[in-house]
Amino acid sequence: MSVITDISVNEIRKQFPILNQDVNGKPLVYFDNAATSQTPQVVIDALVNYYQKDNANIHRGIHTLAERATTGFEATRKAVQQFINSNEVEEIIFTKGTTEGINLVAQAYGRKFLQEGDEVLITGMEHHSNIVPWQIVCQQTGAKLKVIPVDNNGEISIEEYESLLSERTKIVSAVYISNSLGTINPVPQMIELAHAIGAKVLVDGAQAAPHHKLDVQKLNCDWLAFSGHKMYGPTGVGILYGKRQVLEKMDPYQGGGEMIKEVSFAGTSYNDIPYKFEAGTPNIADVVALKAAIEFMNEVGFEFLHHQEQALLNKGRDILFDIDGFQPIGNAKEKASVISFLIDGVHSFDLGMLLDAKGIAVRTGHHCTQPLMDHFKIDGTVRASFAVYNTVEEVEQFAEALTDIVKKFRK
Ligand code: PMP
Repeated sequence: MSVITDISVNEIRKQFPILNQDVNGKPLVYFDNAATSQTPQVVIDALVNYYQKDNANIHRGIHTLAERATTGFEATRKAVQQFINSNEVEEIIFTKGTTEGINLVAQAYGRKFLQEGDEVLITGMEHHSNIVPWQIVCQQTGAKLKVIPVDNNGEISIEEYESLLSERTKIVSAVYISNSLGTINPVPQMIELAHAIGAKVLVDGAQAAPHHKLDVQKLNCDWLAFSGHKMYGPTGVGILYGKRQVLEKMDPYQGGGEMIKEVSFAGTSYNDIPYKFEAGTPNIADVVALKAAIEFMNEVGFEFLHHQEQALLNKGRDILFDIDGFQPIGNAKEKASVISFLIDGVHSFDLGMLLDAKGIAVRTGHHCTQPLMDHFKIDGTVRASFAVYNTVEEVEQFAEALTDIVKKFRK
């Protein structure tokens, strides 16, 4: 078991060169991890090494560099398989991110199988990338999009979810951890209930992958989509996991090189999974470097990660909630290391800018969850989201900075 000490967090911080800088004359406090986390030196080194030594197109080349690039690319597929405990390596598809993974499922499965009268069920706290692809496919097929309501704590009720499930429900697509509020949804239970009525389930794991040990065999989800850049990896690479029997039933998403077996003007036969869904030259360098991010996370361990992030969340709740006019948005019982809030009388954009002037990076706005903001009747929040390299001292600095800003506003 990992032991949580400031020393070990400081050791982790040293692996992230970007954190060691001043922004606007103050040491950087990076609390925008739910948008994009920072990358450790091992990931940066893997990228540089790839371009310095191995860069070539993959799969079809017989020369040494092509072989090295292919080996690196496929080694990441294996690392992802182990990371999420999928049954087979062929169930791992590389995408450019969660967004592409969800669009792929909506088009390659939804467009093929949804019919008029069918229903797709999502939660009221989805990211736009888990709303719009379903709206598009519902328009294309005549299926209906239904929404599980969110309460004022930012939670959904399992009873309400159950009451929305019916034989018309063909797909449930739910976010595991809300990016705007940090709410952890009862996804394992949701999957079980959906399967009991024969629906398929996609899990948006964008915020879960960096915080939670995901085991797709245990979860028994049909698809899981997540992004490298939120789990200490590079931008531009994501993963779509799908069960073999489901992936095999799906149409190709895009046509082109790599996804075919034979092409003639009379017709084309498609490649086996996962290549059937990987048309064209993929983002080889970033896929290769993602392996280093997975190794980093494995080394740190989810136990350490979880404890550290919960310690930051608890500290934040202890000291931020006392600030004059502080209104937390979303107060779920099960919550990841995200604090979304407003301050009475101060606009969230002003807060974001004034915090940036003090070297503190937070996100402001609707966080790509406009329907959720509508539910709370607000146009956005300030969101501080923590990662494993953040410290309790940073949370204290954040509270001091906010107190100072609020005092100036109240004068
Ligand atoms: N879902 C959730 C919950 C997210 O937080 C995000 C990113 N903010 C996405 C989907 C989309 O991820 P990406 O932009 O990497 O495709």
